[in-house]
Amino acid sequence: MAKKVEAELREKVAMACRILAASGICSGVTAAVGHASARIPGTDTILIKGRGYRNEALESMTPKDLILIDLDCNILSAPKGIAPPGEIKLYTHIYKSRPDVGGIVHAHPRFSTVMSVINRPLTVVCHEGAYITSQGVPVLDEMNLISTDETGSATASLLGGRSALLLKAHGAVTVGKTVEQATVNIIDLEEMAKMNVHCLAAGGPDFPMVSPEEVKAFIDFRREKLHLLPWLKRYGFAQLLEESAWTWKHWSHKVQGGKRLKA
Ligand SMILES: [Zn+2]
Repeated sequence: MAKKVEAELREKVAMACRILAASGICSGVTAAVGHASARIPGTDTILIKGRGYRNEALESMTPKDLILIDLDCNILSAPKGIAPPGEIKLYTHIYKSRPDVGGIVHAHPRFSTVMSVINRPLTVVCHEGAYITSQGVPVLDEMNLISTDETGSATASLLGGRSALLLKAHGAVTVGKTVEQATVNIIDLEEMAKMNVHCLAAGGPDFPMVSPEEVKAFIDFRREKLHLLPWLKRYGFAQLLEESAWTWKHWSHKVQGGKRLKA
């Protein structure tokens, strides 16, 4: 049973890596930077893309390429010659401090990185990513890699109970109950960052903001009332509530080319 759970999770983490590539989050010069990871449910062990592959690009990840480690960075299983990533401390500290988190993604998305350096808070200017942005998206004031216990711990405490944070002149981190949710969160975060940059470019530094009341009304409606619309009731509450589901399905279908990834 445990092997089956691990095998299924390996498929999902490899899929997440490939979605990060296909969606443009990890592409071009950022094709080989960043990782997707998942906690084996009920344990303190995680599956994550490592370092040391012949091809480091996320688009090439398959289930057997992933490494299994504990939260003290001990390798439990790994392909020959593959090490944990340089920024493993980012992951272990967040997993330790957030038992609710089942998936973490870190990457260097361009617009999120722009927003990390211009000293303007990310604000809600569109629907996509509204919920995670409304929680506040703090910026870690540290450009260097998250490779020590000090910076790993600082990242986890700055994140707190939120879903996303930015790393100054570096990238972004998103978390979720699952690796699917963490992956969709970084896609949504990058869309929101892109729209913020567009708003600043088109409207200037004083572009009219969407009020907190409007944002709250939208989020409350989307999360609590949309499924009550009589013509949507038959569609299913869970599908409407799980905002990440359709985005994951869309990208995983594209990445698989219509086929299911095998472990
Ligand atoms: Zn990084």
